[in-house]
Amino acid sequence: TPRALARGAVATVDLDALRHNLRVVGERVGTDVMAVVKADAYGHGLVECARAAQEAGATWLGVALPTEAVRLREAGVTGRVLTWLEVPGSPFDDCVARDIDVTVSAPWALDSVLAAARRLGVTARVQLKLDSGLSRNGSTMADWPALVAAARAAEVDGALAVTGIWTHFACADEPDHPSVRRQLDQFDEALGLADVAGLRPEVRHAANSAAALAIPAARYDLVRIGIAMYGLSPGPEVGTGTELGLRPVMSLRARLASVKRVPSGSGVSYGHLYSTAHETTLGVVPVGYADGIPRNASNLGPLLAAGTERTVAGRVCMDQVVVDLGDDDAVVGDEVVIFGSEGPSADVWASVCGTIGYEIVTRIGPRVPREHL
Ligand code: PLP
Repeated sequence: TPRALARGAVATVDLDALRHNLRVVGERVGTDVMAVVKADAYGHGLVECARAAQEAGATWLGVALPTEAVRLREAGVTGRVLTWLEVPGSPFDDCVARDIDVTVSAPWALDSVLAAARRLGVTARVQLKLDSGLSRNGSTMADWPALVAAARAAEVDGALAVTGIWTHFACADEPDHPSVRRQLDQFDEALGLADVAGLRPEVRHAANSAAALAIPAARYDLVRIGIAMYGLSPGPEVGTGTELGLRPVMSLRARLASVKRVPSGSGVSYGHLYSTAHETTLGVVPVGYADGIPRNASNLGPLLAAGTERTVAGRVCMDQVVVDLGDDDAVVGDEVVIFGSEGPSADVWASVCGTIGYEIVTRIGPRVPREHL
């Protein structure tokens, strides 16, 4: 596209691959699937990915922030949407008015949703979240009976409907970690208490991609799939993307912005962390840490340049990286694949940079145009 050409870089987003991945996971788990599209669909484009996920059979969409859920509705996305990171000041009225299911972890959030429902004269949909051991948001077990009782009273009142009860694992990517069993037990206990209090949620859910794929007992009625839908590994113990039958959705490509022949002993990029071992050709790739390329990929990041596997030469700069092309016949405009369906995967970048594939794709910045295929 003109934008991609003008920028010299593009993140292509293969929506066929996304649909394929969701079907692969759906067939394996046999439950309903929530497609997790928070953080601009892990950098892949919120609305496009939400629609593709629905086409592939996802019955729910999940986002962290209420503002993200409202953005989906403003774009005309229908269907069930759950939001889970409410803060004081979140657009509760907008969520309730737009039929968004709002997670409630604490009395203040319940009060905010109830106030919105009363102002609008409608029944709000809420899901109760238990902190079964991640120690992030969610009600503690100690506060659970009071939260359940308050929610049930509001339900009887007609002000809200409790549509779901859920929790989130700390160590789902280590399926044998003892915390997994403890969290499952605590969640089951919380479900029992809710049942005794009269709550009959449509969905009980706990699993992210790793748990959905590796911990059958965690599947309940619905699984919340993020990273596997984007074709990346939920963690080495669960399997690589390829082993799991997944296809990478995002590919980051760029075009060489400069090509030049330099003598042996040329120091390359800030700090001269790299020095040419012989006369060679250097190429400039117009993406840098401002675009999400980790700076600790300096001298490490793998690339496919003109069909040959290369490594970032020297420091990653804000807007560019240099690659040593050896004696390749490269010219300005030649394609470089940084990661994706060809070339190294985002998971390889992650292991080289000491992070996870999630961070590699999510950090690709707004200066890189997304092209949905
Ligand atoms: N559920 C919740 C509450 C999350 O925060 C996330 C994302 O971190 C997910 C599910 C999806 O996780 P994953 O991308 O590992 O499938």
